[in-house]
Amino acid sequence: MQIVTSLEELRAARRLRPAPLGLVPTMGYLHSGHISLVQRARAESESVAASIFVNPTQFGPTEDLAKYPRNLEGDLNLLEAAGTDLVWLPTPAQMYPTGYQTWVEVDGLASPLEGAMRPGHFRGVTTVVAKLFNAFQPQRAYFGQKDAQQAAVICRMARDLDFPVEIVICPTLREADGLAMSSRNSYLNTDERQAAPVLFRSLNAARAAYYAGERNAEKLRQIMTDTLIAEPLARLQYVSCADYDSLQELQEINGKILLSMAVYIGKTRLIDNFVLEN
Ligand code: AMP
Repeated sequence: MQIVTSLEELRAARRLRPAPLGLVPTMGYLHSGHISLVQRARAESESVAASIFVNPTQFGPTEDLAKYPRNLEGDLNLLEAAGTDLVWLPTPAQMYPTGYQTWVEVDGLASPLEGAMRPGHFRGVTTVVAKLFNAFQPQRAYFGQKDAQQAAVICRMARDLDFPVEIVICPTLREADGLAMSSRNSYLNTDERQAAPVLFRSLNAARAAYYAGERNAEKLRQIMTDTLIAEPLARLQYVSCADYDSLQELQEINGKILLSMAVYIGKTRLIDNFVLEN
């Protein structure tokens, strides 16, 4: 596995790798969810690349950039074991040198849900992913369904800006009790960790109602809310039952939907979602 830091080194290393190249962008502190993306890339692509970059521009001023968990050595071991060929470790100063002033912004899809709660977040995400696409020139790029809106926004950006890359969305990996794997789960203390599967439980409750025939979106939002507020350590930020393609909030359901939520467990903000169709 080749590990590079400068853009020049990356470009030189990239040129030597046979196509198609599959890219897995990450912010590090890797877990099995990240590695499932690498494994999918490995199964489908001639070359597999990953980036580890805690992207400052996608964090709000009050968010957890400075204390975002890091474990470079562990990450590199996991990437190597999963068969990664090439890893780029850019620095913030390389990505955003003095004088940097260019941004990539998706309009509609980036506005609701996470976009409404975290102003500027998706502008940071799409900008850094566009830069990663330019740097790696991957034929495929792998993203997790765990961050459903991020995946939708990146698909839109790739189409709108004609990036010659196929975006592959991979299923959410979960712990045995249903908690979606996330680097931020490491912030949870023992009691909070026990409370955290309430997100999964609330999604399951709404899914059961949906498959029992419920097609009123407000009812599904209410079912998720009722489950979440029954957990004393949970503080609900939003629940949503939205059209899968537009991410607009629904009243009546008659197509593919995204159930999603953001919930504070103690000081840790967790998100999760299900996609439902028929
Ligand atoms: P992050 O390091 O949090 O930016 O995540 C890097 C990539 O891994 C993103 O595409 C995430 O959606 C994806 N990812 C994070 N957690 C999971 C998970 N539990 N299952 C599948 N993919 C995930």
